[in-house]
Amino acid sequence: MAAPPSPQPRVMVLPFPAQGHVMPLMELSHRLVDHGFEVDFVNTDFNHDRVLKAMAAETGATATGIHMVSFPDGMGPDGDRTNIAMLSNGLPAAMLGPLEEMIRSKKIKWVIADVAMSWVLELAVTAGVRVGLFSTFSAAILALRLHVPKLIEDGILDECGAVTRNETIQLSSKMPPIDAAEIPWARMGSSPDRLRVFMKKVLKTNPAISLAATVICNTFEEIESGALDLVPNALPVGPLEAPLASSSSAAGQFWPEDATCLAWLDAQTRGSVIYVAFGSFTVLNAAHFKELADGLELSGRSFLWAVRPNFTDGVVGEGWLDAFQRRVEGKGLVVGWAPQQRVLAHPSVACFVSHCGWNSTMEGLRHGVPFLCWPYFADQFCNQSYVCNVWGTGVKLLADERGVVTKEEIKNKVEQLLSDKKIKARVAMWKQAACASIADGGSSHVNLLKLVNLLRKQ
Ligand code: UDP
Repeated sequence: MAAPPSPQPRVMVLPFPAQGHVMPLMELSHRLVDHGFEVDFVNTDFNHDRVLKAMAAETGATATGIHMVSFPDGMGPDGDRTNIAMLSNGLPAAMLGPLEEMIRSKKIKWVIADVAMSWVLELAVTAGVRVGLFSTFSAAILALRLHVPKLIEDGILDECGAVTRNETIQLSSKMPPIDAAEIPWARMGSSPDRLRVFMKKVLKTNPAISLAATVICNTFEEIESGALDLVPNALPVGPLEAPLASSSSAAGQFWPEDATCLAWLDAQTRGSVIYVAFGSFTVLNAAHFKELADGLELSGRSFLWAVRPNFTDGVVGEGWLDAFQRRVEGKGLVVGWAPQQRVLAHPSVACFVSHCGWNSTMEGLRHGVPFLCWPYFADQFCNQSYVCNVWGTGVKLLADERGVVTKEEIKNKVEQLLSDKKIKARVAMWKQAACASIADGGSSHVNLLKLVNLLRKQ
């Protein structure tokens, strides 16, 4: 008689409470469930409710096979959760106790924690739990964070992390140079006080990474090998993807997906649609918002635009978007939250106007969609550089002297992008490389199996 299968260890997955962190960690969780693991996925109460509401708003939402758990985040019901500094400062005090209790009662052996939640390592050490960290950034940004002490020593950054000299940073000969102006925290528009708080966190990355058993990255070896060499114990397993035929619930989304746009895409000509989405955080002011709308209209092309409820700063004017939608009916479709990965995989999509969040960047690359880059903050400028200067799969949208990306700029760059045969060829090449990395025997697939084996070692 065959021996009974040995029980899989229980893995607790702990994302930072923001959409661009919850989604890739949920995608990783699905991969672990596929390999027979029990996964406890920890959201904050606030986000847990949003995920459940998104699920309830959908028809045909499927069970995820993942245990969804939630704890308070330390903020009141009306707390401003877009204030990342305030949100992250309160998390350890609010979550450490409940997490400790859960690790004990559920006999958790492994925690996979977001790099932004690496304070959990303190608890893990005392509770005898092993930790794998997960980076939602590119390996380049992670390598940059690890080199902050050296950059301070070299005088490129001051003690507070502010850029003192505008020069390019060469972290290694195998890595593309990074423009000092693209350092994420230099792009946060932060006051010196906020910068100091942020730097304290960045400086904790090094000790955290040295304590972790592995650093799982949503990237793949073929695109970031130089940067990955600089991250100890890196396991690149990307591009991570939502499960097939996923629903919001399966992907851990905070807003219900409007999947009706897929039928609309079916009715469009192959390679004709501009897809526009700026992730979960970016807020456009009224001038940018209207210029973008006018630019899409002026392009004369079909477009699909994801406009989240909180996407503008609220001064666009009541009814403005409705009037715009009526004006462009038949040509353009506006949805609240798109099933982005399925949209990018759709043959009707021609290009992606994107803020260059790392998840969107990976998803566009994976599905072979060229980029029109319109970054706003944090790592998005560095990601834009990779898209335009390193991989050559996109072009930058440039602001005029008033700081506005004009409608003419949008129209012209769409034409430039779509007529550039070299970009088209590179997009196809990188798509093939990304697909090969996650296919059986590909680099990311092999790394995922290494992770599975590591987690099986109790
Ligand atoms: N996304 C989506 N529908 C939308 C807009 C975004 O599903 O209408 C997803 C997108 O696929 C990506 C995530 O939201 O996985 C956004 O992450 P990203 O890192 O690109 O940006 P962030 O939200 O962190 O700024």
